[in-house]
Amino acid sequence: MIHVSFSALVCLYLGIMLCPICGAWLLAEWCRQRREHAAFRAVLRCKLCAGEYADPTSTALSRCPHCGALNERAQLPRF
Ligand SMILES: [Zn+2]
Repeated sequence: MIHVSFSALVCLYLGIMLCPICGAWLLAEWCRQRREHAAFRAVLRCKLCAGEYADPTSTALSRCPHCGALNERAQLPRF
């Protein structure tokens, strides 16, 4: 028979129960960041008129629908 103290048993139980919860939380956070990154990749800000617009294409240069200026694809700053 294995002798295990009550405190060690409680720690073992908490460790076993918290690992799947933390794993699920990390997986959900990773999926959320991927969705957010994909959504912000299509949003551009014009350097000339500062207007924001959506461009779902993957071209390096995008034309602003407001002023017609060409803009490089760059990430918008996150808050
Ligand atoms: Zn513009």
